[in-house]
Amino acid sequence: MKLTSLLLLLCAVAPTAWGWSNHTVGSYLALQALPEVQDAPQVAVEPLEAFLGAQYPAIVELLEQQEAFAREHFAQYPSRPDNLKLPAAPADNLRNAFLMALRINPQIHLAMVIQPLPGQDLSQREHLKADQVMVAQTLSPWNRQRFIALADGEPVSALAVLASAADEPDYGHDINLFSDNPGAVAALYGFGPQSFGDERFEYSSQAPFHMGFFHENPVVYAAAGFLARSWPDWRAYQYMGLARLAFATGHPYWGYRFLGWGLHHVQDLTQPYHAKPLPGVELASMLLMEGKALAGYGDDKLAAVERVATRHMEVEKYQAAWLYRLLRGGQQVHPMLQAYVDTAEDGVYPPYSADYLREVVSAQSAAAGAGFDEAIGQWLATAPATNSFSAGNQVQREDYDHPLLNQQLFQLLGHFGAHSRNFVRAGLGK
Ligand SMILES: [Zn+2]
Repeated sequence: MKLTSLLLLLCAVAPTAWGWSNHTVGSYLALQALPEVQDAPQVAVEPLEAFLGAQYPAIVELLEQQEAFAREHFAQYPSRPDNLKLPAAPADNLRNAFLMALRINPQIHLAMVIQPLPGQDLSQREHLKADQVMVAQTLSPWNRQRFIALADGEPVSALAVLASAADEPDYGHDINLFSDNPGAVAALYGFGPQSFGDERFEYSSQAPFHMGFFHENPVVYAAAGFLARSWPDWRAYQYMGLARLAFATGHPYWGYRFLGWGLHHVQDLTQPYHAKPLPGVELASMLLMEGKALAGYGDDKLAAVERVATRHMEVEKYQAAWLYRLLRGGQQVHPMLQAYVDTAEDGVYPPYSADYLREVVSAQSAAAGAGFDEAIGQWLATAPATNSFSAGNQVQREDYDHPLLNQQLFQLLGHFGAHSRNFVRAGLGK
């Protein structure tokens, strides 16, 4: 198989800004079942600069330990250029130096906000507009969030901080970090050229930090090594370390916020379309499609790429619209809500480690990919798909009466809940 052909096939992985739509909503549900969070005392909102200034030497030390560990531990890890290391004495622009040492996008707004649960009335509070919270490329046409502004020092619930932060890495953290992306840091960060992502979406440059194809056939990696260049597990590791430091040094607001950032990457990988480039397409089929394409019959290949993108998009819309309907309607008991909060399976997984995301979360998700993809296909065959990423009305007419699809969906959302709680327990040292 020619590399360029496989590139064409696999580069068109589906949109990446979701991984179960609004992460805050799923996090509220999953973490309500965790008394350590639900019953935690309120925390005082603190500017990032205050945390950085107060704990600077410890942060410098942590980031050096993390860099040494990452170079040893994460596959295909691109070493951080030494000039991004935090200096021994704080720089003038502390925040910028910190974001660049982490190699995240220094343009992010880091707004002090929380999102309410759908159905929760906080209409009296000041709201920020989406473009005050998210960098422009990440604004989504259909994922509507509401952002309530917080004041410095204001007490706020630990759960609200954590759940709100879980959505935040989709607001621009990982946009335009690769050497062939536009912007000032592309040439500085050392990530090399962007490994994959769908060019139809402005935010596609974040894909290699929000997806991870860790469980492919070796033949696939041999032909398309770029698929192994992704680092959601490293991101989760970075934020976990920062969260533990912030908790240990008396900065719980940043403890919960960093923990939420890491949680995002765990949750992304519970979505099978973030863990498989083409779920349901066996290697033999890929080769056959490729052979036909080379012979001038490329329709099968194009159809496979389109199909995967459409199924990923449609199932997230289906799930999100259904969940919002339940929450806005005040529904208390429902199998989907139960899937998020059910703690029965939390203990069956190995203890949390830096390998948990790769070896546990994404392995499970990748294994579910083919069956999930097939169930979505059967559902779409009965409900006409929009085949358009901008049309958002299709699910309005949905009756959600698709037992085969729903059964798989609830199981996957159960994984979302369990892994979310296990990650948070690890961050809290419970
Ligand atoms: Zn994401």
